Amino acid sequence: MSVYAGFDLGGTQLKYGLINEDCQIIYDSRTDTPGNAKELFQLMDTLWQKLKSKAKKEPIAAAGFGIPGIHSTKKDRILQSPNYQEIDNLDINSILNKFITVPFKINNDANMAAYGEFKAGAGRGSDSIVLLTVGTGIGGGIVLNKTLWQGECGFAAEVGHIIVNHSGELCNCGNRGCLETEVSGPKIVRNYIKLSQETKKLTAKDVALLAREGDENAKKAFEQAGYFLGIGLGILINVLNPDKIILGGGVMKSGSLLLTPAVKEAAKRSFTASFKCCQILKAELGNKAGIIGSAAWAKDTLSHSAFPGKKIGRDDN
Ligand SMILES: [Zn+2]
Repeated sequence: MSVYAGFDLGGTQLKYGLINEDCQIIYDSRTDTPGNAKELFQLMDTLWQKLKSKAKKEPIAAAGFGIPGIHSTKKDRILQSPNYQEIDNLDINSILNKFITVPFKINNDANMAAYGEFKAGAGRGSDSIVLLTVGTGIGGGIVLNKTLWQGECGFAAEVGHIIVNHSGELCNCGNRGCLETEVSGPKIVRNYIKLSQETKKLTAKDVALLAREGDENAKKAFEQAGYFLGIGLGILINVLNPDKIILGGGVMKSGSLLLTPAVKEAAKRSFTASFKCCQILKAELGNKAGIIGSAAWAKDTLSHSAFPGKKIGRDDN
């Protein structure tokens, strides 16, 4: 039996761990991310040595790395990173090859989280799922017919940038009214401030608490965001006809405050037949989805028996 290593690089934390053949976590931990790319790779080297010692007698057969940014499957590198500009267009594989002694793969972090939910979370047993992670932004991934849908060059599944409000706020991507500008945690706070004229500094969690205490403006702030989330879900349902749409991320802890208006709007906006055969569910793996997904991705895409003892760092697709 072998185990598989997964690394999930976030904005502030690097999560890492090991899974077994059944995609169950057997070890996981996290640490703060350093300030520059050189220190990041040094840290990955240290954590890799740690994972090898944690694996003990069971060999690590492959490793996966979920990294934020625009990942090109053709060049197998990150073209644009939101956190470490030094890795833009960098041949990360050559750097990792210096210390990762098993076959490994890099991919986009949101794709890896979706793959994790597909393999071991709320998407288990389904053929086609969409994961949306609603937090400070919206990330996502798509699995169709049991295959991670990466698109022609690897840039698919930017679900956070589906335009749901033509007159909406300006998004980081340069467009207006993207799903992520209309539905993220910060937007829910802005909705509330606009409605209530509140001057205190608040988080989406605070607004959720206020809504549960009966604050009508707080409820409305979630309803406004839920309406736009529903438009986005309706588009996904009509285009992809998925078995499941899985919603994760910190903002989904608000539960029905966001979900009820979203499902109501999605039902209105999509074909009834397609809506009825799509389950809208909460994600199950929380912040471990990325570790499980990247390790499972390496497990499923790198046949270690095909490369005995060799360092394979590149996907030649
Ligand atoms: Zn956008």
